[in-house]
Amino acid sequence: MSTFSQFINGEWLASQKTRANINPSSPNEIIGEYAEADTADVELAVQAAQAALPAWSRSTPQQRFDVLDFIGTEILARKQELGTLLAREEGKILPEAIGEVARAGYIFKFFAGEALRIGGLAIASVRPGMEVITSREAVGVVGLITPWNFPIAIPAWKSAPALACGNTVVIKPSELTPGCAWALAEIISRSGLPKGAFNLVMGDGVAGKALVEHPAVDAISFTGSVGTGKLIAQHCALNLKKFQLEMGGKNPLVILDDADLNIAVECAVNGAFYSTGQRCTASSRTIVTEQIYPAFAAAFLERTKALKVGAALDTASQIGPVVDQRQLDKNLHYVTIGKEEGGTLLAGGERLSGEGYFFSPALIENHNPYARLNQEEVFGPVSTLVKVNNFEEAIQVANATPYGLSGGICTTSLKYANQFRREMQAGMVMVNAPTAGVDYHVPFGGSKASSFGPREQGGMALEFYTKVKTHYLA
Ligand code: NAD
Repeated sequence: MSTFSQFINGEWLASQKTRANINPSSPNEIIGEYAEADTADVELAVQAAQAALPAWSRSTPQQRFDVLDFIGTEILARKQELGTLLAREEGKILPEAIGEVARAGYIFKFFAGEALRIGGLAIASVRPGMEVITSREAVGVVGLITPWNFPIAIPAWKSAPALACGNTVVIKPSELTPGCAWALAEIISRSGLPKGAFNLVMGDGVAGKALVEHPAVDAISFTGSVGTGKLIAQHCALNLKKFQLEMGGKNPLVILDDADLNIAVECAVNGAFYSTGQRCTASSRTIVTEQIYPAFAAAFLERTKALKVGAALDTASQIGPVVDQRQLDKNLHYVTIGKEEGGTLLAGGERLSGEGYFFSPALIENHNPYARLNQEEVFGPVSTLVKVNNFEEAIQVANATPYGLSGGICTTSLKYANQFRREMQAGMVMVNAPTAGVDYHVPFGGSKASSFGPREQGGMALEFYTKVKTHYLA
């Protein structure tokens, strides 16, 4: 059995405890024993990041470009192998896993370029003989805390801009999927990045909390659940620490009477169930106007029932296993809630036979927008069908949750598509496209309870990973 250490100050350090990384397609298969950091390990990692900060924050754009480009090139060259690791530890099917790895590689390439483009403004002064310019500086030591559902893309979309802007990093990936973050750290260890500029600690919320609460950590970027996000927000706000939160969703896909039925069904199946519904941008509510409802519901149901659930590395599988027993229990629990609150289970919602955490995609009809299943994030392949009278009601229902990450509409009407884009209370809106599946070089994030702070990804990532200085020159 291989043991995987933490990466602190350029060295691989063993920890007191380890945790088994389990393959959800085959839970008896242990991918490896991964270090579990305690507060002393987090302390060492933060100290290393602090010590590395003066030099890395003064590194040249060329040095940053070279490091990030190296990392991106190697990730892309190894996408098959790393995709296989990702599929084994997280459970998404291999083509999706390879796609995620490629995304991580392109993100590093994108931010290699961004390192060359960081600039400021020259602003005319109101005073004669004065010049005003702005510059961007690194924020400092940044703590990055990531969830299990995108085990390489999210570490990439936080680490790459952090390093491009001259920050030093301590990252703590999810305890369920440390393997991809470890592989990323291993690549970074050979990238030419100075020791201590990137540190990996693994483990659960204990290590996460220690990182958030360390006084030498200048900023926290977090992706995960609303509950954890609120705890982090509380601490950071009270201690005046910069923070950014990306959290859950209850994303709606609206289907209007004039939609192309094939496109609508494709968007619904993809958005609700691909990646086992374990995407923060998954469409967990499909809101359909009444005339198209019978035809759409029949076609969506038929496609849902036909989805092949199986092991992530089995080429016949369209849907992999749920990530672990706890999430499987949560999915089953929500199916029970769905039935108890008056919904009709149209398909799936059962534990399937086989060693892995296999669960059949669940489609539940419930036209009450305030039912729990239409309000609360399940984070699994559990989706509702909601019938509405018209566009006006559809947009009202679409907006009737505390969340606002992504929202989609299928329509052939330009008028309704535009009105939806304006009125949907979400950070990302999709027209004739699934709510999930986004580009790697553009801003990502939500509104309402889904996100807090500046956007991630694309050029806007600089808002979080830099601070602005205004210079007056007389
Ligand atoms: P989670 O909140 O349980 O854990 C996220 C991370 O926080 C993990 O690394 C965990 O160890 C750590 N953590 C736990 N307690 C902590 C504490 N007290 N202090 C600091 N860190 C702590 O979330 P999860 O189950 O890993 O992920 C699922 C959630 O992530 C879903 O709600 C999903 O919508 C959300 N998500 C959001 C996005 C987005 O960009 N909006 C993307 C992916 C996932």
